[in-house]
Amino acid sequence: MEIGNNLDKIHTDIPADVKLVAISKTKTVQNISEAYQWGQRIFGENKVQELVEKHPLLPEDIEWHFVGHLQTNKVKYIAPFVNLIHSVESLKLLKEINKEALKNNRIIDCLLQFYIAQEQTKFGLSINEAEEMLKSHEYLEMKNIKITGVMGMATFTDDMEVVRKEFRALKDHFNKLKNYFFAGTESFREISMGMSDDYKTAIEEGSTMIRLGSIVFGGR
Ligand SMILES: *Cc1c(COP(=O)(O)O)cnc(C)c1O
Repeated sequence: MEIGNNLDKIHTDIPADVKLVAISKTKTVQNISEAYQWGQRIFGENKVQELVEKHPLLPEDIEWHFVGHLQTNKVKYIAPFVNLIHSVESLKLLKEINKEALKNNRIIDCLLQFYIAQEQTKFGLSINEAEEMLKSHEYLEMKNIKITGVMGMATFTDDMEVVRKEFRALKDHFNKLKNYFFAGTESFREISMGMSDDYKTAIEEGSTMIRLGSIVFGGR
């Protein structure tokens, strides 16, 4: 019941067009089922092995997102079923996703992950790297991936003004890419930003997709 109550509460203050990705890392299949029974359909994991183990144990109509650092040699394990990869941070990784998607006769949606935080530990592209990537012949030849937006993680801090600035930077990156590379491409529309501690700020700054873990499932 607790998870359902949490989801009820979260939904009272998020706009209907903001997608909620329930980040179920470290949570059990029972926990995920409880959220599913409440009506939650989008779940996100950050470890390949954990995702691959949970996927067959849960209903087919779940939309699985991958949100963690993805090693190229592990793409093949999730390529048959993953719906959205939030964490594309190199051309090499994108090439691998394209290759594995082709093998599975699929088109895999991807977000470009940007480095917006002040912490060295976080992954992601700079705007210049993203632009280089999107100009490259290799990217232009890829038929089995679709870039549907951007993702970023803010600095872990209580200072919401720092966080707000970083979310603004991500929104600026989105707008820039939209104008230069995806003008008229309706499917390029997602800004994945906002976690349990900062999702309200993220929504104020234009998030279309929030990734919530602890506030949905209880503390890790
Ligand atoms: C764990 C995780 C989240 C969710 O974090 P909470 O603070 O528990 O909401 C969101 N995004 C990514 C990439 C994560 O690894």
